[in-house]
Amino acid sequence: MIEIPPKIRQCVREIRVGRNVFGGGDFVWIAGPCAVEDGESFRRIVGELGKLGVTFCRGGLFKPRSSPYAFQGLRAEGVELVRRAKEEFHFSFVTEVLDEASLRVLLPVTDMIQIGSRNCLNYELLKLAGATGKVVLLKRGFAVTMAEFLGAAEYLAASGAREIILCERGIRTVTEVTRFTLDVGAIAWLKRHVPCPVIADPSHAAGDAELVAPLLLAAHAAGADGAIVEVSQCPEETRCDAKQQLDLAAFAQMKRQMD
Ligand code: PEP
Ligand code: MN
Repeated sequence: MIEIPPKIRQCVREIRVGRNVFGGGDFVWIAGPCAVEDGESFRRIVGELGKLGVTFCRGGLFKPRSSPYAFQGLRAEGVELVRRAKEEFHFSFVTEVLDEASLRVLLPVTDMIQIGSRNCLNYELLKLAGATGKVVLLKRGFAVTMAEFLGAAEYLAASGAREIILCERGIRTVTEVTRFTLDVGAIAWLKRHVPCPVIADPSHAAGDAELVAPLLLAAHAAGADGAIVEVSQCPEETRCDAKQQLDLAAFAQMKRQMD
């Protein structure tokens, strides 16, 4: 039996960010490219997503890559591009922070702070993020147990956060056919035991555009309050996670199936 930490029990069930409410009954869509690669492609994709009814966009500026030689994101240079796109298209924005410096750079432009899988157990970063007063999206580490995940969320809560959204994004198992295994059981369990809204990231779990829709449907069936999905206009040309990004047509079809 896993003990639910005390401050997690006091977290709020419904979290409003801009025009979206997580945990309020409506499925919330967050969509956008893995990384913001340049101003024009970002502007175009968020504009198109807006036409599909998406009012919450994602896009990494500081990218934690497995190779130090891979594209690391536009970093601080991308902030102004995102700010301009938000001004034009009026969407809420979530992006990942890696450390104190990136947190400081991103705070003015992000509506929700994303703690990525690799930093799920970075307790010092959790303390900093939890103290900002912003909604935090905490992604489960890919080798993190439920007790450890709740401990990480408790770090946010102990620093003052009460608006915490938990994200299941897949864990390491013996499977070779998906990049990670989306733990739908964990989604169902969390929805029964903690107040925090729970969303799924079927993109990073699947690692393959073709498998994103079935994983999303499974997450929805398990009770997820929403999803964060990687979408770009030309997936094959992107510099980051090309294989798993949906093109607009595939995203639109998946969204239609769900709405
Ligand atoms: C991301 O969402 O950009 C990302 C890197 O995901 P994760 O931390 O789940 O690997
Ligand atoms: Mn990605």
